Amino acid sequence: MHILILGGTTEARELAAALADRTELKVTSSLAGRVAHPRLPVGGVRVGGFGGVAGLVAWLRAERVDAVIDATHPFAGAISRNAAEAAAEVHVPLLALRRPSWVPVPGDRWHPVGSLDEAAAALPALGSRVFLTTGRQGLGAFAVLDGLHFLARSVDAPEPPMPRHIEVLLDRGPFTLDGERAVLREHRIDVLVTKDSGGAATAPKLTAARELGLPVVIVRRPEPPAGVPTVPDVPSALDRLAQL
Ligand code: NAP
Repeated sequence: MHILILGGTTEARELAAALADRTELKVTSSLAGRVAHPRLPVGGVRVGGFGGVAGLVAWLRAERVDAVIDATHPFAGAISRNAAEAAAEVHVPLLALRRPSWVPVPGDRWHPVGSLDEAAAALPALGSRVFLTTGRQGLGAFAVLDGLHFLARSVDAPEPPMPRHIEVLLDRGPFTLDGERAVLREHRIDVLVTKDSGGAATAPKLTAARELGLPVVIVRRPEPPAGVPTVPDVPSALDRLAQL
């Protein structure tokens, strides 16, 4: 049985590791190739786009894939849609492994928005020293905000367009609560911007913001493709695979 894991997340790497000893399975993890030095999953890996739905269909057929697990990031909407279309066309089972959304707790001052543009529009009323943790893509949405100071954290250096007053922090999760407290304090941050990525690795910034009473602009997830069975964690994905 050949399983394709669409990856780029901690869960995708954990799943590949959990399947590594299963000699009856051939497992290929697929990465988009966005990060210069990605953490590679164990086992077979391919890197780069497939070339849309048609390219993915061709790949699934050529490699005789028996099941696809979409373990991509909740904000990687295009590849998830492509996977749903391609799997349906090839009649290959598709399972989505998607970590649950973060849930606010008492003390949180969250401002949910629908996009990075909406996040930018909300910022001037909330603060002037912004910690941007939405990744290096899409920083152009904040370029119009000349009066605000930004600290942007990303794995690789961002490229223009981006805000004029920006400081870049190159780092990659998981992050600790102490570390996040220090970032907020040292950079005198008064508002945080994040995607609703979910998961533990990047959650400590939410706790640190809560402790300081800071507002958090949180970008809602895109709608996942309809009709795809979805599990929240690696053990549940392994259970579903066993049923296949
Ligand atoms: P996206 O907008 O959904 O995908 C854009 C295109 O990138 C897709 O159409 C596909 O190209 C290619 N692609 C995406 N994921 C791929 C994969 N796992 N294997 C092969 N090709 C892939 O994706 P994105 O938001 O740019 O994210 C890219 C990758 O980074 C994803 O794998 C995701 O898991 C990871 N990631 C994303 C975020 C985020 O915030 N978006 C955060 C952390 C990690 P073709 O059409 O040519 O096949």
